[in-house]
Amino acid sequence: MEFELWWLLALPLTFALGWLASRLDLLQLRRDGGRRGEASLAYFRGLNFLLSEQQDKAIDAFIEAVTADPDTVDLHFALGNLFRRRGEYERAVRVHQNLLARADLPAADRQRAQVALAQDFFKAGLLDRAEATYTALTATAYQSEALAALLQIHERTREWPAAIDIAQRLERLGTGSWARQIAHYWCEIALRQRRDGDLVAALDALDKASAADPQAVRPWQLRALIAQQQGHPEQALAHLRQIAALRPDFTAIVAADIGRLYRETGQAEAGREWLRAQLQDSPAIELLDAVLALEDDPARRRRLSLQYLQAHKSLLAARRAVQQAAVSPADEGLRSAVEQAVDAALDNRQRYRCAACGFEARNHTWHCPACMGWDTYPPRRSEELSLITP
Ligand SMILES: [Zn+2]
Repeated sequence: MEFELWWLLALPLTFALGWLASRLDLLQLRRDGGRRGEASLAYFRGLNFLLSEQQDKAIDAFIEAVTADPDTVDLHFALGNLFRRRGEYERAVRVHQNLLARADLPAADRQRAQVALAQDFFKAGLLDRAEATYTALTATAYQSEALAALLQIHERTREWPAAIDIAQRLERLGTGSWARQIAHYWCEIALRQRRDGDLVAALDALDKASAADPQAVRPWQLRALIAQQQGHPEQALAHLRQIAALRPDFTAIVAADIGRLYRETGQAEAGREWLRAQLQDSPAIELLDAVLALEDDPARRRRLSLQYLQAHKSLLAARRAVQQAAVSPADEGLRSAVEQAVDAALDNRQRYRCAACGFEARNHTWHCPACMGWDTYPPRRSEELSLITP
């Protein structure tokens, strides 16, 4: 009897509880809907500000949207990217770390957030943390991106063996040839070992550079440097002449050294002949200068510079011809005025210019300090760029 009575009471109670629960659900849904509505409104407002390039207002709107609806992953990414683009790395890091702290974050979004976080660290100059984050990403779908970033980090911190390892991994992934960079990394190692006084190790590194890229010019330049240091000028000369055999255009950047070594080894005449032949095949003002330096006869120097000017009508050539011209003492003032006028017109056309980013350098360099590209400087000054064989 008691049991039945209990049931009589329990039925309406269950019904009432069910009704209450459904009302609560509805209420929650309505509240959530309201929050989502607010969030999406703020989101669109943010987008609008972004499109009209008002980043400050866009950020305010996105912060509002994220606060109204903290579950929105894409909003976090948008906000984080905005902070990073504005250089507010600490805030970008916080946004992405907040995302990563979420236990319910799907694996794909987690990796995306890690990539974003690694970019924040990299941009902020926190290279250790960027390296650790990118290293964790090398086992994910972001492998190539992570390896490319790690390569940049190792270049920046001058960790050349690590850079070689990463470049080889990138090569194995089928991202094209990294031979040129690998050769340069070996050259950097050789330079360091030379500085440390270990010439044997330096020469061994240069062999590895040439093995990586048999066409590389720089290892020969460095071998010549070491041979001179060891007191073997003939050997140094042979190394530099090897550059002419490999890449004739690059003889220009070592022409002065070649001329000096010919003179040092008592072969001025042979040097003149050799350099004149190179000047014919691959003209450059540096080669003319090297020939002129080995030529003691003023009449021949005059003729050579005039011939060069007639063949390549550049301001650099005009400068040399005026310099070598025979003028009476009364005309010395004129010569000096013409030289100054040509120098003014030459201005920065005497500099080397990075083919990738346009950054100018007084001397030829293998690694652009602006865009960090390797081999981006052609072996001619701006004024003589047209002389390079395509
Ligand atoms: Zn550059």
